[in-house]
Amino acid sequence: MRFPAKALCFLCALYVLCGASFALDREAFSITNYNLYLQIEPEQHRLGVRGKITLRNDRDAPQKIAVLQISSSLGWRSIKAGDRAVQFVTQPFTSDIDHTGQLSEAIVTLPQEVAPHASVDLDIAYEGVILLDATRLTRIGTPEDLAKSTDWDQIDTSFTAVRGAGYVAWYPIATESANLSENNDLPQVLTRWKVREAGSVMHLRLAVSWKQIDSPLPHTFFSGLPCTMEPYLLGVVDADCLPQKERLTSPSLLIADYLVQEKLGVEMHFLPAHGAAAARFAEEAEKVAPLIHDWFGSQRERAKVADLPDPDAAPFESGALLLTPLSNLSSNSAGLAAAHQLTHVSFLSFRPWIDEGLAHFAQVLYLEQQKGRQAALVYMGAHRSVLTAFESSAGTPRSDEEVTHSLVNTVNEELYRSKAMCVWWMLRDVIGDAALKKAIASYKPEQDNDPTYMPRLIAAQTQRDLSWFFDDWVYRDHGLPDFKVESAFSSRTLTKSFLVAITVDNLGSAGAEVPVKVKFAGGEVTKRLEIRAKQKATIRIETPAAAQEIVVNDGSVPESDTTNNTLKVDAPSN
Ligand SMILES: [Zn+2]
Repeated sequence: MRFPAKALCFLCALYVLCGASFALDREAFSITNYNLYLQIEPEQHRLGVRGKITLRNDRDAPQKIAVLQISSSLGWRSIKAGDRAVQFVTQPFTSDIDHTGQLSEAIVTLPQEVAPHASVDLDIAYEGVILLDATRLTRIGTPEDLAKSTDWDQIDTSFTAVRGAGYVAWYPIATESANLSENNDLPQVLTRWKVREAGSVMHLRLAVSWKQIDSPLPHTFFSGLPCTMEPYLLGVVDADCLPQKERLTSPSLLIADYLVQEKLGVEMHFLPAHGAAAARFAEEAEKVAPLIHDWFGSQRERAKVADLPDPDAAPFESGALLLTPLSNLSSNSAGLAAAHQLTHVSFLSFRPWIDEGLAHFAQVLYLEQQKGRQAALVYMGAHRSVLTAFESSAGTPRSDEEVTHSLVNTVNEELYRSKAMCVWWMLRDVIGDAALKKAIASYKPEQDNDPTYMPRLIAAQTQRDLSWFFDDWVYRDHGLPDFKVESAFSSRTLTKSFLVAITVDNLGSAGAEVPVKVKFAGGEVTKRLEIRAKQKATIRIETPAAAQEIVVNDGSVPESDTTNNTLKVDAPSN
């Protein structure tokens, strides 16, 4: 556990305060219920919150101290248990889980110990401002423009958006410090928080000061679902947002002066100046729709898209709502975004590796349809490099926790987006389009009671034994393969063609079926070869001319080292 110097001094004081020695366990409690009333004054960038939260002791020992954290631009006003004010001390706490790079931490002495797995309710109040702030990124050297387009959260007059933990702690959280300059530190802290918050429920009510008294009400979304808006007092709009279970993407709030355009498959919420861009997006969505329907069935509802004012802002998925700048979107990016969102409204799974994995897989299908397989592989390359970095940073030897960090359970975005996308692509290469479409069509979310459900549906569509594949890639995290062309011997056949015997070694700990390409004067031949983890496999490929070079893996299989994938072949001796 790391404490900043200030925290250490503070702890010394607290030891005296409590008369007992202890270590501050910031992750002892999860917050299982939030009932919050938010007052938002966009012109002042101001947020005032009061409400009730429920803390659950996740430890096996009783807890007397709870830690609550909010963004450093907000300040604690009161914390009560029942009618009684509780003792709490506040301090700044450095952590990159918030865009300001710091949290306002309240260390709360509870009225009595909370037994293991028991809960306690606290009434809380805090307030402050939320301005555009990219400190956590600029202080590690991110160029300012890029930093601001990444951390675009703010409360402002015509556009307010606050994404939750991981962007802006606009509701209380309880986490250890996360450091962006340490590889994988922030994702790990966030993942732990999301796992602890799984099933937690948040209910919001809002009072928003709205300058345009005569103009239409602002559009308000809580985690992608529209809130019910009503004029309340002069210049104040009241909103009730449906209680929502915590999702993988943190609870986020969006309030903006949008106009709406509904087309066949999409509902566009766009800023007044971006009407033409919204129409272009809807057009692209219409073009993509047949491909998506062919793979994932018909749409349950319209895909929803909301505009971001900064043309360079990084897109974000808030529940089923895609936030993306419409003004700067090329038709290619619009097509990619539409493919993703249309998949979400056509196919539903609560398992992220299926839900997000297939939505990303659909983007690659779209690119392949538009520009061919090579373009699709190049696009996947960006995801593969994220994945390679992630898998190698997991380190060797891999701990039990990492090995069991499986695709079926993960809440890590790199895994359930990039890795899952690659897994779906590999499955498609192995069993073919028709079989995979059938497996997808047979999926019923209400019958998905078991992580093996989807793999069983896929296995049912093929004669191939895929259990090793699911074990290496889905049920467990066995890392990535590493193919090496070990040898290639070319010989003449009686029919005046050539036969090359190729042995490929998989040095990695995950198996895969991989394309093996033989290049010869005037052409090339590709065949697929299954190579299990830590094993070798040999394939014989016939070519019309002598083989010159062997290349394993066209980029369709994520791999830890691609420097050993090519081998020159000597001319046949006979
Ligand atoms: Zn998605």
